[in-house]
Amino acid sequence: MKQHDLVVIGAGPGGYVAAIRAAQLGMNVACIEKEGALGGTCLRVGCIPSKALLEASELFRQAKTSFSEFGIGVGEVSLDLPTMQKRKDNIVAGLCKGIEGLFRKNKITRYFGHGRIVAPGQVVVEGDQPEEISARHIIIATGSKSSPLRGVAVDGDRIATSTEALSFPEVPEHLVVIGAGVIGLELGCVWSRLGAKVTVVEYLDRILPGMDGEIVAEAQKTFQKQGLEFRLGRRVTGARVEGKQVFVECEGEQPLACDRVLLAVGRIPNTDNLGLDTVNVGVDQRGRIIVDEHYATTIPGIYAIGDVIAGPMLAHKAEEEGIACAELLAGKYGHVNYDAIPGVVYTEPEIASVGKTEEELKAAGMPYRKGSFPFMANARAKALGHTGGRVKILAHTETDRILGVHIIGPRAGDMIAEAVVAIEFGATSEDIARSSHAHPTLAEVMKEAALAVDGRTIHM
Ligand code: NAD
Repeated sequence: MKQHDLVVIGAGPGGYVAAIRAAQLGMNVACIEKEGALGGTCLRVGCIPSKALLEASELFRQAKTSFSEFGIGVGEVSLDLPTMQKRKDNIVAGLCKGIEGLFRKNKITRYFGHGRIVAPGQVVVEGDQPEEISARHIIIATGSKSSPLRGVAVDGDRIATSTEALSFPEVPEHLVVIGAGVIGLELGCVWSRLGAKVTVVEYLDRILPGMDGEIVAEAQKTFQKQGLEFRLGRRVTGARVEGKQVFVECEGEQPLACDRVLLAVGRIPNTDNLGLDTVNVGVDQRGRIIVDEHYATTIPGIYAIGDVIAGPMLAHKAEEEGIACAELLAGKYGHVNYDAIPGVVYTEPEIASVGKTEEELKAAGMPYRKGSFPFMANARAKALGHTGGRVKILAHTETDRILGVHIIGPRAGDMIAEAVVAIEFGATSEDIARSSHAHPTLAEVMKEAALAVDGRTIHM
């Protein structure tokens, strides 16, 4: 039987990063992955291919609608969907290969197959060449999968999850998206830009649950202007396929006819056939593996990180946990600051946030001051032709410490990094206001929002 210091089950952003960090710290590491490519959902069928399509579809939309404003004539703009898809596939393939290279560089043993824990310290790799391996430590990093919805049977064709919606063979005529969360909006925007009519049906009376209400209200108006139709406060109860048509049933309404459906009502932990029952690893009511602050499960020697445990289902959260878990296993200090995990929605404009929302601060009775500044008054945003949106900073009334930053606007996903560092370092709004921000850049909107907390913006 082969022996390792650490076996990681799953090679997504949590698992592969944990494996690399543990190898850097001198451990003999193995990683088990059942898919042919490394990188997990994020790389293969999630964050990366969706961003490739978001960039491509946005360029297509701009070429059709706004290049002329820049004085650029392009004639008739046409869509070559197979090439767009091939570019996306090439980006994914290149990045997956990159992880193979990182595994080789760090001397991580890769096992192909499904990992199942048979006893503490023992894992069976089920695949073409089944084998049993032993390890002092096991990290479960098996990620998540699309949440099913009763009455809506995914067939991978007319009724799709995000995986199939990344590779529709043609632009749908009418796409109904169930769920106005991050997945529904990002992929809804892709197909809307490429020409589909898109209707988003959402159970709640708002989109993007959990994000700052004021920012989300602005986002919804913008998406509506872009052509997305929202049906809020409606619960989908079923969907039936009839030939090339699908009828989506909503409570108290006529069925909605369309040609494709994207089911995006959340994700659930991937713990099927992992052997959790055999070894008695505890899970909570939502099927998430229970861990302590060191990512230790209820069974010694077995750890879990990423989407299979509680917290936001985000690749970078899983990466941080993977690093912390590996460092703790090596006897070092590993820690994740959950107050400083950013969230980004890669629509146009992008939406990004870190820390507390206004709703959360109000509910907690925390006194705060608010500073807000629009991209409209920023020179670089004007040059870019993306002037919608704002940066909003929430700072503690007495200490001025930054409690939350919420952005809707161009490159918000990149801009939020400054706010993450500020929160990580316990910065005040005054710290940002007094830091020099290059001119002309979008980042100046962050500085002005910080100045706005104290009512002293320069450019408004
Ligand atoms: P979500 O939880 O963000 O949103 C699902 C939505 O579906 C909710 O608004 C919910 O109210 C709605 N819903 C549930 N049942 C419904 C019903 N019967 N009828 C109508 N609406 C219903 O889930 P998601 O968008 O599927 O994303 C899953 C996870 O993946 C999230 O944790 C998300 O953070 C993560 N993710 C993140 C990114 C990113 O960071 N850019 C991108 C993709 C996915």
